[in-house]
Amino acid sequence: MIELEDKLTQSPLAEIGFAKTDEDLAKILGLEIVVVHDNELPRDTEATLTHNDNPSYFGLIQVKQKYRRSVFACIHEIIHYVFDVGCNKYVQETFERKVRGKTKDAHEQEINYMAASYSMPFVQIKEAIRNYNDSSPKADELVFIHDLCEHYGQERESVLRRIREVKRIDRSRTAKH
Ligand SMILES: [Zn+2]
Repeated sequence: MIELEDKLTQSPLAEIGFAKTDEDLAKILGLEIVVVHDNELPRDTEATLTHNDNPSYFGLIQVKQKYRRSVFACIHEIIHYVFDVGCNKYVQETFERKVRGKTKDAHEQEINYMAASYSMPFVQIKEAIRNYNDSSPKADELVFIHDLCEHYGQERESVLRRIREVKRIDRSRTAKH
């Protein structure tokens, strides 16, 4: 996990800025996002990143209608672009995001991890946890989680997982120093 966090902080994404929307990121990176009908992509696929026939874009992200509002579908493809293709390069092959639970591949899991980490940045989540812990009288935990979901446009499950990750990374970093 720490390795992936470092990879992210040393990537062009750190310069562009974390927790941006998929649309903003796509625009900055020169990628086109097109929403397609749910039956236009394979059943187990949420989104794909492919070559774009229009040379004014470096690549084409197709996302199924029903996954358009999910934060991860397009961010996943953008992470593929930054780490597997490279900024300012044309996409020549196809990258996919499988529906939840269908991702066995280790590289795909890394991409998913980085997508969550990009969308809920370590420093920001760490700060939010600290504020919550220091609050007096103690803030309501449910409200705390709810606010994070709203702020990052994420589902509860993703926010809870990210909080656990950030705590774990923070502990192991503190232990090393
Ligand atoms: Zn993928």
